[in-house]
Amino acid sequence: MSKEIGKCLCGSIEVECDDLPKSAVACYCEDCQKASGGGPSFNIVITDEKIRIIRGVPSVYEIKAASGNLVKRLFCSNCGTAICSKLISRTVWKAGLFSHIKDIEVSTNVWSSTANKLLKVDIDKKTFEKGIN
Ligand SMILES: [Zn+2]
Ligand SMILES: [Zn+2]
Repeated sequence: MSKEIGKCLCGSIEVECDDLPKSAVACYCEDCQKASGGGPSFNIVITDEKIRIIRGVPSVYEIKAASGNLVKRLFCSNCGTAICSKLISRTVWKAGLFSHIKDIEVSTNVWSSTANKLLKVDIDKKTFEKGIN
């Protein structure tokens, strides 16, 4: 179990993860397409005790998600990098924060029903047309 430090683009926000999972959930909802610049978001799902913000204070944008639930999207107010999304049930963290992103693979796709044509959904992975709770 090794600690990983994740950073936003400008380095104002740092995140420490005790045990970075090797898999991510790709979310193709329309909100993530907006936030990511067109593609899905790649989310690390991990229990709250294993990950924390150790530097900086992100800005928060709250929006009603495709699920109908309110989601808090945290981002760096300086460079705009997405940090994490606080859902009702859990917080999911952006894989792109971590330099170990090259070791992370998609295990699951969600909201494939709203995917666009820029990136084909890899349906060899577990794929859900909508969100999962
Ligand atoms: Zn930043
Ligand atoms: Zn999404």
